[in-house]
Amino acid sequence: MIRVFGIVQGVGFRPFVSRTAAANHIRGCVCNKGSYVEIMAQGEKKALQSFYNELQHNPPPRAAILKIDREKAEGVKTYSSFDIIESTKEKGDIFVSPDIGICDACKKELFDKKNRRYLHPFINCTACGPRLTILDAMPYDRERTSMGEFPMCADCTYEYTHPETRRYDAQPVCCKKCGPEVYLMDRHERGSSAITEARRVISNGGIIAIKGIGGFHLSCDATNEAAVCRLRRLKKRPIKPFAVMIKNLDVVRNECDIHADQEAVLTGHQKPIVLLDKKTGGKICQQIAPGNPKIGVMLPYAPLQLLLFTYDDEMSMPDILVMTSANESGAPICRMDIDVRREVVHMCDLVISHNRKIRLSVDDSVMDFYDGKPYMIRRSRGYAPLPFILSRQYKGQVLGIGGELKNTFCLGKNNLFYPSPYVGDMTDVRTMKALRESIVRMETLLEVKPSIVACDMHPRYNTTIIAGELGLPVFSVQHHYAHILSCMAENKYSEPVIGVAFDGTGFGTDGTIWGGEILTADYTGFTRRGAIEPFMQRGGDIAVKEGWRIAISMLYSIFGNSEIFEKSIRQLALCDENNLMAQCFMADNHINSIRSTSAGRLFDAVSAILGICRSSTFEGEASMTLQFAAERWKRKHKEPELLHRYDLKLQNGIFYLPTNELVRHMAEGILARWPTGCLAYIFHRILADMIIKACKKVRADTGIATVALSGGVFQNRLLLRMCDKGLQDYEFRVLKHSLLPPNDGGISLGQAVAAMQYIQNR
Ligand code: ZN
Ligand code: ZN
Ligand code: FE
Repeated sequence: MIRVFGIVQGVGFRPFVSRTAAANHIRGCVCNKGSYVEIMAQGEKKALQSFYNELQHNPPPRAAILKIDREKAEGVKTYSSFDIIESTKEKGDIFVSPDIGICDACKKELFDKKNRRYLHPFINCTACGPRLTILDAMPYDRERTSMGEFPMCADCTYEYTHPETRRYDAQPVCCKKCGPEVYLMDRHERGSSAITEARRVISNGGIIAIKGIGGFHLSCDATNEAAVCRLRRLKKRPIKPFAVMIKNLDVVRNECDIHADQEAVLTGHQKPIVLLDKKTGGKICQQIAPGNPKIGVMLPYAPLQLLLFTYDDEMSMPDILVMTSANESGAPICRMDIDVRREVVHMCDLVISHNRKIRLSVDDSVMDFYDGKPYMIRRSRGYAPLPFILSRQYKGQVLGIGGELKNTFCLGKNNLFYPSPYVGDMTDVRTMKALRESIVRMETLLEVKPSIVACDMHPRYNTTIIAGELGLPVFSVQHHYAHILSCMAENKYSEPVIGVAFDGTGFGTDGTIWGGEILTADYTGFTRRGAIEPFMQRGGDIAVKEGWRIAISMLYSIFGNSEIFEKSIRQLALCDENNLMAQCFMADNHINSIRSTSAGRLFDAVSAILGICRSSTFEGEASMTLQFAAERWKRKHKEPELLHRYDLKLQNGIFYLPTNELVRHMAEGILARWPTGCLAYIFHRILADMIIKACKKVRADTGIATVALSGGVFQNRLLLRMCDKGLQDYEFRVLKHSLLPPNDGGISLGQAVAAMQYIQNR
């Protein structure tokens, strides 16, 4: 008897076993047990060995074997043939396959006139197609998916039941006769006329909503400036970049610079959005990602998307389409027609939908690259809910509910931790509803029943409120500690580390805002060792969008109410007289002020002072543009000479990075008419040097020589590279993220690990 653990469901594993058995003259059976696949094998000793070797070394491409157990079974009947038998469920670790982009074989059939699935928008096979998004429960069988309502026709049944076909045991298999159908919402067109109409609208410069794998997209011609501008107006999204879907790799190469490692991910079966450097002279219009040297690119991954580019209606179509999630800003991606009708209809000219239900909304994953390796920005479709596996042997079941922005949650069972698909920003009641529903769905799919829920320390986070509703003991985890734990867990590292957690905001143990933190941490707890210099954040949430407010607050505390202060504010044109008076009044009377060490706000302030971005239309805009300015300048210049020394300041047992000093020099530099790009670069350089200095100090105090870099600020690859290389030059071991985002999308893993550690000793 052989038991195979890992991703062995929904990837054609049983048919593969059956074929391999036939080739080796093995008799017996294979059975899907929900959490693993069980094989009974009888035959000659040599044949059994070669059968076993094949299982181990040549599994189907989408399978991922984690463990194979082999033992002699006593008292088993003698088999006369090899059969696939019906699933009987058993308890154990569950591996749910993520959705898989269309495979080459299906793509070929899709455009083969002689094939019976020619241009069939729902073509799939054992190696590709939707998985997580159509699944109701495990084990993965058709009746437990949203394909259950489409009984197979005779031809499909034949393929489904015959091991020699590519669709043997493929749960979502269907054809034009028996499968789902596309249609235009609120219109009469169905099937091919619906597709042709959608193509016509796009090629005429219109906007459509199109149902994908994990939800609807809004789409238009990405080479048509007017269409893109109209979409920006309708979506109320003035600047934030749009992702594009490009017809094929050749077109990608015309538009972007692409390395082999990026190409492998772009064309891989997960099909994430990959951030690529734009080439000059491409066709993609400026409005797609204004002022941004990069562009988010993905290839078509659903058959319907391929048909938008290529169809038999002789219409000529653009090669590049905007593909942005269809939702109102702040709300989760729409997955049902009723969501679209409520939120999106007014943003588009046409909605192309279909009747295969999406059970769980799953956004596109977004991936950057660092040092030739993936550097995840949003981990969702294609990756969730694959688990991270810790080397520690834990026992228990936990939920980490995640943070407030870019929320994901994470279920933990023993040493397996399953981060959820991206849920979104919890500032919207619809996202809160989606979080509640997704938790229930994922608990069912993965068969996890948490005994404790971990949440952020922030008392007013909506996630903290939802955690309280679950009727479980609540365990709160400090935000930046959760960041560092997530980085440690991703790297399977369990020794103490120096954690550098730089991000926008997090609730500190002292009730102030933290966000530029140097901690020492292990799985049992943390100590705050250092931080950037505190400043006053005024005006509540609006200060997050308007960096000029932070800039004034910092300059006011640096220069005081002096002539030089007023002169510099005026020269830097940070705000008008009325706003300046209001800010100074608030400062003098301590109104609506909170102490903050947020690194994100520091970047915003510097971006405002340098005149690069005074207020943001989306999160991270000010710091992104600051980074781009620095990189643009550095491409044409040598390393600048640094004029000042910056020493750490020790205060009440915590040392502070002298960032106020740095801000003062930025203001002085800009008043002395230094080039902004140069100052932007120097800002990065000096901040990185301060971080390295801080790590050296902690190493001297504690002997810890491993540093974990986490937090949304480390999406800034310039700062990341400077810190990473600089620390390595001083012989630190540096842990970084790769497949888990450094931003708040990653903290649920850290929370879950903290809770798991906590319940071990109870
Ligand atoms: Zn396929
Ligand atoms: Zn059929
Ligand atoms: Fe954070």
